[in-house]
Amino acid sequence: MEYVKSKVRDVQDFPQKGILFKDLTTAFKDPRALHIIGWDLSQLYRDKGITKVVGIESRGFIGGSILAFELGAGFVPVRKPGKLPADTLQMSYGKEYGKDTIEIHRDAISEDDIVVLHDDVLATGGTMAAAYELVKSMNPKKIYINFIIELAALNGRAALPAEVEVTSLIKY
Ligand code: AMP
Repeated sequence: MEYVKSKVRDVQDFPQKGILFKDLTTAFKDPRALHIIGWDLSQLYRDKGITKVVGIESRGFIGGSILAFELGAGFVPVRKPGKLPADTLQMSYGKEYGKDTIEIHRDAISEDDIVVLHDDVLATGGTMAAAYELVKSMNPKKIYINFIIELAALNGRAALPAEVEVTSLIKY
Protein backbone atom coordinates (compact mmCIF):
# COMPACT_ATOMS: atom_id res chain seq x y z
CA MET A 1 0.00 0.00 0.00
CA GLU A 2 2.99 2.31 0.47
CA TYR A 3 3.49 2.02 -3.29
CA VAL A 4 -0.09 3.16 -4.00
CA LYS A 5 0.27 5.95 -1.45
CA SER A 6 3.37 7.16 -3.29
CA LYS A 7 1.25 7.49 -6.45
CA VAL A 8 -1.56 9.58 -4.90
CA ARG A 9 -1.19 13.25 -5.84
CA ASP A 10 -2.02 16.05 -3.39
CA VAL A 11 -3.62 19.07 -5.07
CA GLN A 12 -3.93 22.12 -2.81
CA ASP A 13 -7.03 24.36 -3.14
CA PHE A 14 -9.03 22.10 -5.49
CA PRO A 15 -11.92 22.42 -6.21
CA GLN A 16 -12.03 25.26 -3.66
CA LYS A 17 -9.57 27.17 -1.50
CA GLY A 18 -8.67 25.28 1.66
CA ILE A 19 -9.33 21.78 0.26
CA LEU A 20 -6.35 19.44 -0.03
CA PHE A 21 -7.57 17.20 -2.84
CA LYS A 22 -6.38 13.58 -2.90
CA ASP A 23 -6.04 12.88 -6.61
CA LEU A 24 -6.17 9.16 -7.42
CA THR A 25 -5.82 9.60 -11.20
CA THR A 26 -2.05 9.40 -10.74
CA ALA A 27 -2.49 6.02 -9.01
CA PHE A 28 -5.07 4.74 -11.53
CA LYS A 29 -2.76 5.51 -14.47
CA ASP A 30 0.04 3.47 -12.90
CA PRO A 31 -0.46 -0.21 -13.85
CA ARG A 32 1.08 -1.58 -10.63
CA ALA A 33 -0.84 0.78 -8.37
CA LEU A 34 -4.13 0.04 -10.20
CA HIS A 35 -3.50 -3.69 -9.84
CA ILE A 36 -2.78 -3.39 -6.12
CA ILE A 37 -5.90 -1.25 -5.57
CA GLY A 38 -8.13 -3.73 -7.44
CA TRP A 39 -6.64 -6.77 -5.75
CA ASP A 40 -6.64 -5.36 -2.22
CA LEU A 41 -10.21 -4.03 -2.55
CA SER A 42 -11.47 -7.40 -3.73
CA GLN A 43 -9.64 -9.31 -0.96
CA LEU A 44 -11.70 -7.37 1.61
CA TYR A 45 -14.96 -8.79 0.21
CA ARG A 46 -14.12 -12.21 -1.29
CA ASP A 47 -16.05 -14.31 1.24
CA LYS A 48 -19.05 -12.02 1.74
CA GLY A 49 -21.36 -13.16 -1.06
CA ILE A 50 -21.49 -9.71 -2.65
CA THR A 51 -24.00 -9.52 -5.52
CA LYS A 52 -23.86 -5.76 -6.33
CA VAL A 53 -21.23 -3.06 -6.08
CA VAL A 54 -22.68 0.47 -6.01
CA GLY A 55 -20.19 3.06 -7.29
CA ILE A 56 -20.62 6.80 -6.65
CA GLU A 57 -20.20 9.25 -9.55
CA SER A 58 -17.76 9.66 -10.89
CA ARG A 59 -14.52 8.64 -9.22
CA GLY A 60 -16.28 5.74 -7.48
CA PHE A 61 -17.00 4.16 -10.88
CA ILE A 62 -13.36 3.19 -11.37
CA GLY A 63 -12.64 1.19 -8.23
CA GLY A 64 -16.27 0.07 -8.07
CA SER A 65 -16.17 -1.50 -11.53
CA ILE A 66 -12.92 -3.30 -10.79
CA LEU A 67 -14.31 -4.56 -7.49
CA ALA A 68 -17.53 -5.81 -9.14
CA PHE A 69 -15.55 -7.58 -11.86
CA GLU A 70 -13.19 -9.23 -9.37
CA LEU A 71 -16.08 -10.42 -7.16
CA GLY A 72 -18.27 -11.61 -10.04
CA ALA A 73 -20.89 -9.10 -8.88
CA GLY A 74 -23.00 -6.57 -10.80
CA PHE A 75 -22.25 -2.83 -10.91
CA VAL A 76 -24.78 -0.09 -10.10
CA PRO A 77 -24.06 3.63 -10.61
CA VAL A 78 -25.17 6.36 -8.20
CA ARG A 79 -25.24 9.57 -10.26
CA LYS A 80 -25.85 13.29 -10.16
CA PRO A 81 -29.42 14.38 -10.99
CA GLY A 82 -30.70 14.05 -14.54
CA LYS A 83 -28.06 11.55 -15.72
CA LEU A 84 -29.89 8.25 -15.19
CA PRO A 85 -32.44 7.53 -17.93
CA ALA A 86 -35.12 5.53 -16.10
CA ASP A 87 -37.16 6.01 -12.90
CA THR A 88 -34.94 7.08 -9.95
CA LEU A 89 -34.85 7.61 -6.19
CA GLN A 90 -33.13 10.85 -5.02
CA MET A 91 -31.34 12.09 -1.89
CA SER A 92 -29.85 15.53 -1.05
CA TYR A 93 -26.92 16.06 1.33
CA GLY A 94 -24.18 18.49 2.42
CA LYS A 95 -20.53 17.82 1.52
CA GLU A 96 -17.04 19.11 2.28
CA TYR A 97 -17.37 21.72 -0.47
CA GLY A 98 -21.08 22.44 -1.09
CA LYS A 99 -24.47 20.76 -1.31
CA ASP A 100 -25.53 18.08 -3.76
CA THR A 101 -28.15 15.54 -4.81
CA ILE A 102 -27.62 11.95 -5.95
CA GLU A 103 -29.85 9.43 -7.70
CA ILE A 104 -30.09 5.70 -8.21
CA HIS A 105 -32.36 3.71 -10.51
CA ARG A 106 -35.43 2.58 -8.60
CA ASP A 107 -34.99 -1.01 -9.83
CA ALA A 108 -31.19 -1.17 -9.26
CA ILE A 109 -31.19 -3.21 -6.04
CA SER A 110 -33.39 -6.13 -4.95
CA GLU A 111 -34.11 -7.61 -1.51
CA ASP A 112 -31.84 -10.58 -2.29
CA ASP A 113 -28.79 -8.41 -2.85
CA ILE A 114 -25.69 -8.15 -0.67
CA VAL A 115 -24.23 -4.77 -1.52
CA VAL A 116 -20.92 -2.93 -1.21
CA LEU A 117 -21.08 0.84 -1.61
CA HIS A 118 -17.81 2.18 -3.01
CA ASP A 119 -16.32 5.64 -3.45
CA ASP A 120 -12.74 6.79 -3.93
CA VAL A 121 -12.44 9.12 -0.92
CA LEU A 122 -14.22 9.40 2.45
CA ALA A 123 -14.17 13.08 3.42
CA THR A 124 -17.14 14.30 5.54
CA GLY A 125 -19.12 11.18 4.71
CA GLY A 126 -22.15 13.14 3.48
CA THR A 127 -22.11 11.60 0.01
CA MET A 128 -21.83 8.05 1.28
CA ALA A 129 -24.44 8.57 4.00
CA ALA A 130 -26.90 9.72 1.33
CA ALA A 131 -26.01 6.78 -0.95
CA TYR A 132 -26.48 4.43 2.01
CA GLU A 133 -29.97 5.81 2.65
CA LEU A 134 -30.90 5.36 -1.01
CA VAL A 135 -29.72 1.76 -1.07
CA LYS A 136 -31.18 0.93 2.35
CA SER A 137 -34.61 2.10 1.19
CA MET A 138 -34.49 -0.79 -1.31
CA ASN A 139 -34.11 -3.33 1.54
CA PRO A 140 -31.11 -5.43 0.45
CA LYS A 141 -30.00 -8.30 2.75
CA LYS A 142 -26.82 -6.52 3.81
CA ILE A 143 -24.83 -3.36 3.01
CA TYR A 144 -21.08 -2.79 3.34
CA ILE A 145 -19.23 0.50 2.76
CA ASN A 146 -15.77 0.85 1.20
CA PHE A 147 -13.31 3.56 0.17
CA ILE A 148 -9.83 3.60 -1.30
CA ILE A 149 -8.83 6.63 0.81
CA GLU A 150 -10.13 7.76 4.20
CA LEU A 151 -9.37 11.32 5.37
CA ALA A 152 -9.42 10.37 9.06
CA ALA A 153 -9.12 13.94 10.36
CA LEU A 154 -12.54 14.80 8.85
CA ASN A 155 -14.11 11.96 10.88
CA GLY A 156 -16.43 10.95 8.05
CA ARG A 157 -17.12 7.62 9.78
CA ALA A 158 -19.23 9.52 12.32
CA ALA A 159 -21.66 10.43 9.51
CA LEU A 160 -22.07 6.75 8.56
CA PRO A 161 -24.38 4.30 10.36
CA ALA A 162 -22.59 2.70 13.33
CA GLU A 163 -23.91 -0.79 12.51
CA VAL A 164 -22.30 -0.87 9.04
CA GLU A 165 -18.82 -2.32 8.44
CA VAL A 166 -16.69 0.41 6.81
CA THR A 167 -13.30 -0.34 5.21
CA SER A 168 -10.63 1.76 3.50
CA LEU A 169 -7.27 0.87 1.98
CA ILE A 170 -5.39 4.06 2.87
CA LYS A 171 -5.87 6.38 5.86
CA TYR A 172 -4.47 9.92 6.04
P1 AMP B 1 -17.83 13.70 1.36
O1 AMP B 1 -19.29 13.64 1.07
O2 AMP B 1 -17.43 14.95 2.06
O3 AMP B 1 -17.33 12.49 2.10
O4 AMP B 1 -17.08 13.79 -0.02
C1 AMP B 1 -16.81 12.67 -0.68
C2 AMP B 1 -16.79 12.88 -2.16
O5 AMP B 1 -16.13 14.10 -2.53
C3 AMP B 1 -16.06 11.78 -2.81
O6 AMP B 1 -16.73 11.46 -4.00
C4 AMP B 1 -14.69 12.33 -3.11
O7 AMP B 1 -14.29 11.97 -4.39
C5 AMP B 1 -14.83 13.83 -3.03
N1 AMP B 1 -13.89 14.49 -2.13
C6 AMP B 1 -14.23 15.26 -1.07
N2 AMP B 1 -13.15 15.77 -0.47
C7 AMP B 1 -12.09 15.30 -1.13
C8 AMP B 1 -10.68 15.46 -0.99
N3 AMP B 1 -10.14 16.22 -0.03
N4 AMP B 1 -9.90 14.81 -1.86
C9 AMP B 1 -10.43 14.05 -2.84
N5 AMP B 1 -11.74 13.87 -3.03
C10 AMP B 1 -12.57 14.49 -2.19
